[in-house]
Amino acid sequence: MSIFSKIAAGEIPSYKCAENEEFYAFLDINPLVKGHTLVIPRREVDYIFDMEDDELARFEVFAKKVAVAIKRAFPCVKVGQAVLGLEVPHAHIHLVPMQSEKDMNFSNPKLSLSKEEMQEAADKIWTEFVKE
Ligand code: 5GP
Repeated sequence: MSIFSKIAAGEIPSYKCAENEEFYAFLDINPLVKGHTLVIPRREVDYIFDMEDDELARFEVFAKKVAVAIKRAFPCVKVGQAVLGLEVPHAHIHLVPMQSEKDMNFSNPKLSLSKEEMQEAADKIWTEFVKE
């Protein structure tokens, strides 16, 4: 089981932002900015472009809804989307509230937020997320 599968299953704690039967969204533990969120399929698949077209489409639509919630929770110019997958072999989309393109530089130093700040950020996104 990948670390992200364990997170989606609740076996490893995370700051949950949104979920449905198929997908799960939680805060990146080393955020580029406040509100930096990861979106994953519960199904274990490493490479996003190995996903079938239908599943990939549903994944993106779910990510879009999370992005809408992030933008409401953390006012920004746009929510940027990135897929790297160089560290964790479980497909995931990074959603980052951007004030400028610099916020999408994954070489930037990461923020160090307290547990309370992380929980507050996740709760804000959770509150804004519109469930099906
Ligand atoms: P990538 O695979 O996209 O290159 O990077 C993986 C991302 O997942 C990183 O931004 C890293 O901070 C995040 N990450 C790695 N392990 C954990 C974890 O256990 N919990 C959470 N919330 N994020 C993680």
